[in-house]
Amino acid sequence: MSLQNPVFILGPTNMPEVIRKACDMPTIDHRSPAFARLFKPAVEGVRRVLKMGEGEVIILPSTGTGGWEAAITNTLSPGDTVLAARFGMFSHRWIDLCQRHGLNVQIIETPWGQGAPLAAIEAALKADAGHRIKAVLATHNETATGVKSDIAGIRRAMDAAGHGALLFVDGVSSIASMPFEMGAWGVDIAVAGSQKGFMLPAGLAILGVSPKAIAAMESATLPRTFFDFRDMLKSYAAGGYPYTPAVGLISGLARAIEVLEDEGLENVYARHHRLAEGVRRAVAAWGMKPCAASPELFSDTVTAVVVPPGCNGTDLVKLAAEKYGVAFGVGLGEVAGKVFRIGHLGMLTDVMVLSGLATAEMCMADLGWPVTLGSGVAAAQDYYRGSAGALAMAAE
Ligand SMILES: *Cc1c(COP(=O)(O)O)cnc(C)c1O
Repeated sequence: MSLQNPVFILGPTNMPEVIRKACDMPTIDHRSPAFARLFKPAVEGVRRVLKMGEGEVIILPSTGTGGWEAAITNTLSPGDTVLAARFGMFSHRWIDLCQRHGLNVQIIETPWGQGAPLAAIEAALKADAGHRIKAVLATHNETATGVKSDIAGIRRAMDAAGHGALLFVDGVSSIASMPFEMGAWGVDIAVAGSQKGFMLPAGLAILGVSPKAIAAMESATLPRTFFDFRDMLKSYAAGGYPYTPAVGLISGLARAIEVLEDEGLENVYARHHRLAEGVRRAVAAWGMKPCAASPELFSDTVTAVVVPPGCNGTDLVKLAAEKYGVAFGVGLGEVAGKVFRIGHLGMLTDVMVLSGLATAEMCMADLGWPVTLGSGVAAAQDYYRGSAGALAMAAE
């Protein structure tokens, strides 16, 4: 029965029944017009969710990490320099991936809990008179710390420096849950995955690619085959893939976008903000703090809760899984043990979030942490009762 509990991890997220059913379909020939009819709405839908201008949508059988790899191998050459700030596990892993591909990563070390340092990025670009930096990498929502970065601000910093580098954004845990404006922010490659805001199983890397990034692929010499955008775009033009696509997931993606648009993207963002705010009220009532250093950095899809001195966040996550059948996220890297993470993205309602907060409290009490049962739940209840839109999510 505990399999009926919602998950509060950072992906895969809970799946609406209609999306799950859309993935479950009979075999079709992926070289037939039937596939092209299924694929086109998914591509057009992604374009709307990303708020792309010109450019191409690429949907790879992969995960977010494969999306990163595709972004760099299609646009860069061995020895190229990229600029990246490191402030959490996911920004770290993207840097590591670039280094293992033979890129020279100029790293701006930033305390975990902070976001992308705009002034330092601008200064680094201004100092790069010879324009050796080919791309700026930004993690929009650092899932390890629950920190949101200002991508529009990074674009302004790049423009202020008069620097023509490409801007690559990891939006794996923000896209389809938090406002994202690929066109307006001048993002050259946006990377998403199917198993977070899109509420699907893992298995797709979803990318938006600007005309400038498309142009860069002609001179890029990093090796790529499976992820080669040139092969993809050639096959897309004929309504297909260079190899066998994940047909069921693509069918599910088209349905997921209908679900998001039935609710309305702005309502989806507002719901995530409301859910997150309720969680933050609960955290404050527990006498704890988010890892994110200040309110403008608070993520609306994940809260990393800093646990009291002498407590270990991983103990809570283990107990929740073993005793109550509820999944939270552990702390990663530098914040391992120091935080536990509550994922609040995808198919979630006020009522579901309250169940997660109640479970976290039971675990804290079981572990002897200083908490009053019901304190966080009550703070969130008060907030949810008073904030509009409890039923905004499309009834499915
Ligand atoms: C989940 C996540 C990834 C990794 O995606 P996979 O689909 O697990 O490969 C990358 N970046 C961020 C910010 C994430 O949250």
